[in-house]
Amino acid sequence: MKTETYEFYHQSNLIQLGNLIDDLHGVHVHLLMLQRRYYRIYGKYASFARICNHITQLKQRTKPHWNQLPSQVIQQVAKRIHLGYEKFFDNIKDRKAGKTKRKIGRPKIKPNHKYNSLTFTQAGFKIEGNRLKINCLGKSFTFWKHREWTGSIKTVTIKRDRVGDYYLYITCEDCEPSEKLPLTGNVAGADFGIKTFLTLSDTTRITSPEFYKQGFNAIRSANKALSRKQKGSKAWYRAKWHLARVHKQITHRRRDWFFKLALRLVRKYDTLAIETLNLEGMKRLWGRKISDIAFGEFALILQWTFAKHGKTFLKAGRWAATTKPCSACGHPNENLTLQDRQWICPDCGSHHDRDVNAAINILQAGVPA
Ligand SMILES: [Zn+2]
Repeated sequence: MKTETYEFYHQSNLIQLGNLIDDLHGVHVHLLMLQRRYYRIYGKYASFARICNHITQLKQRTKPHWNQLPSQVIQQVAKRIHLGYEKFFDNIKDRKAGKTKRKIGRPKIKPNHKYNSLTFTQAGFKIEGNRLKINCLGKSFTFWKHREWTGSIKTVTIKRDRVGDYYLYITCEDCEPSEKLPLTGNVAGADFGIKTFLTLSDTTRITSPEFYKQGFNAIRSANKALSRKQKGSKAWYRAKWHLARVHKQITHRRRDWFFKLALRLVRKYDTLAIETLNLEGMKRLWGRKISDIAFGEFALILQWTFAKHGKTFLKAGRWAATTKPCSACGHPNENLTLQDRQWICPDCGSHHDRDVNAAINILQAGVPA
């Protein structure tokens, strides 16, 4: 299974996609209210099949306008709620059995502005070239087809984001496998850092362009413009959208850099090891800067890229000591402080760079992720 993303061109009839999503939000609210009512009366939740039956009846009686909506998409709305309840009950079971401590709440009724997507399964749409036709609207929408998808289409999802752009997600089955990259014989461990984004065990250093800092002025002026507007006015909404767009641009630039860096690394190394990140702890320690550097996101992209190209990705255990031990003899240097960038091992006398030493230790402690 593989999902490709395409952006819709800006076109005047895109608003109709938005209206369709809003109509489905109405279905979403109705079905969840129904589940709550059902629970109050019978002390349990209605099954998926039962809800589907009920939808058919509703269409004949009180909700004839639902017949205008694509029926499979309505079913997907019910399915999402059903999956939400399944997760909720599985989690209760798991917590009772002591398997997890994480708590998953029961499905919530989403407000309109958080309800932003719809999914087609087999029927109700048609794709010709770079145009998606939606049968119930009788309209076609052009998207920017920057690449071909392979295999057979399983689902088609349309999403709108908070700045009013629309995206098409095509999920396919039986795709052509990605090309495997030739082996190079290089192996490396990598250490994340605040000053240097990535230090590799072969002493390569990669610095972060710090997109947040670059975009900081743009964000600040957009924020100021927003605070000058009267809340709820037309100009206020315009300023709010502008701010969201500035944030989006920065996120996109950062992701783009992540993907390019990951590709550079996967071309050079057969095996790469990173440390397991304790992101919550790091955020508490370093604040906003961490969300800027976004290690967690990059770690996921790395893992995905290495799997895609048939190379090995390792993670050092969460409790593995990586900073203090000497990578040559294993002597733990307890006197090491955060200020020491370079040190000499008191036991074997080898000279270490702090980050490179950590990267070598990470490589040695790496286990398949
Ligand atoms: Zn040593």
